[in-house]
Amino acid sequence: MNPQSKKPNPQLIWHPYTPAKDELISISKGKGAYLYSDDGTRYIDAGSSWWTNIHGHSHPYIAEKIFEQAKKLEHVIFAGFTHHPAEKLAVKILAKIPFHQKVFYSDNGSTAVEVAVKMSLQYWWNKGETRKKVIAFKDAYHGDTFGAMSVSARGVFTEPYQHLLFDVEFIDTPTPGNEQKTIGQLNSLLKMHSAEIAAFIFEPLILGSAGMLMYDEKTLDELISICKANNIITIADEVMTGFGRTGKFLAVDYCDNKPDIICLSKGITGGFLPFAATTCTKEIFDAFDSSDRAKMLFHGHSYTANPIGCAAAIASFEVFETDNSLEKIARINARHLAFVEKIKLHASIKDIRCRGSVLAIEIKTSEQSGYLNKIRDVAYQYFLHRKIIMRPLGNVVYVLPPYCISAHDLEEIYNAISGLLDLVLTIDNSVSS
Ligand SMILES: *Cc1c(COP(=O)(O)O)cnc(C)c1O
Repeated sequence: MNPQSKKPNPQLIWHPYTPAKDELISISKGKGAYLYSDDGTRYIDAGSSWWTNIHGHSHPYIAEKIFEQAKKLEHVIFAGFTHHPAEKLAVKILAKIPFHQKVFYSDNGSTAVEVAVKMSLQYWWNKGETRKKVIAFKDAYHGDTFGAMSVSARGVFTEPYQHLLFDVEFIDTPTPGNEQKTIGQLNSLLKMHSAEIAAFIFEPLILGSAGMLMYDEKTLDELISICKANNIITIADEVMTGFGRTGKFLAVDYCDNKPDIICLSKGITGGFLPFAATTCTKEIFDAFDSSDRAKMLFHGHSYTANPIGCAAAIASFEVFETDNSLEKIARINARHLAFVEKIKLHASIKDIRCRGSVLAIEIKTSEQSGYLNKIRDVAYQYFLHRKIIMRPLGNVVYVLPPYCISAHDLEEIYNAISGLLDLVLTIDNSVSS
């Protein structure tokens, strides 16, 4: 690798989730599933640039639509004003979520969650009920702002702020074998406290940051149904799972019971611009539909419904349809499953999980599983050497590619995974000592 494109962490910028001593790779170009560093080295973007990219980098159609919109109207306050891109996008979003009636725009996944949590709490407030508690999965990740952290797992991400996070009732994640336990926990919580509980928030089918933990749609359907029977608001955080990741447009499309609120971000602009939407039912909105200004939802960001973001999202929706994205995802899924068949008995594998375009392999190490597992750095460097960008989640390596990825590039990633698994057998003792 040409050292030109590798730089020591510069003095000026504080990078997220990056120790200051780490070297940085400077990227200057993206095309399809590839990213190119300043010296022209080509990398496969196996993790879709933090799960945001769906159609490939610098997609020309989306780029063109952004340019057109930027020349016409770059931004306008969204309180008291509206614009065509925001309205056109709302129609497209609600066409995919016909059981919802309103779209609230914001900037990123964490804000989409903040809005959802505030909507659910103020819904009860506006109705004169004091329901303060939220239920969440104990392995959940819903973002890095305080409300989103509060409804997320208590662990390394939240430890320094733990005493400031609001109380949440955690139930077990219904991973295979734990389904009945989780359902039992939800039932008994609602039996004891249903008059205090405002909402249940969950990542549907895949808990991303927890290490791509997966659970089945039957259990999700039942959890939503239990909440409905008890008059508890359900919030599906589809920030990662939305826009086809799981094989259907939304993960909740696998279920008969539908959530009251849905959070969308990451893939919404095809990976071009920071943007998010929180959608809700007519019933939720009606609790805010009052001439009393004290009942408004007290939330709004400077860049709410940014027209350029809306234009990117509309263009990405169009590409999703014209490109037959769901077929592409089905093909990726078939290739993942063929690889699973080939590799599943490998001695380095603790668990292997696959859903839609997402494949995750939990590596068996002598250490406990988790985000700080030391095999992480070994795996990250191993993939980088093979010109593959993939940030493992502790001892979980995964493939979550742009939908345009070629069969050849997937094969290259699978080969690298196989090689890594072989390597782990020989190094695990020295790594964990
Ligand atoms: C990434 C993520 C978020 C946070 O989104 P940001 O845009 O990083 O703030 C929230 N929920 C889920 C499920 C996510 O994967």
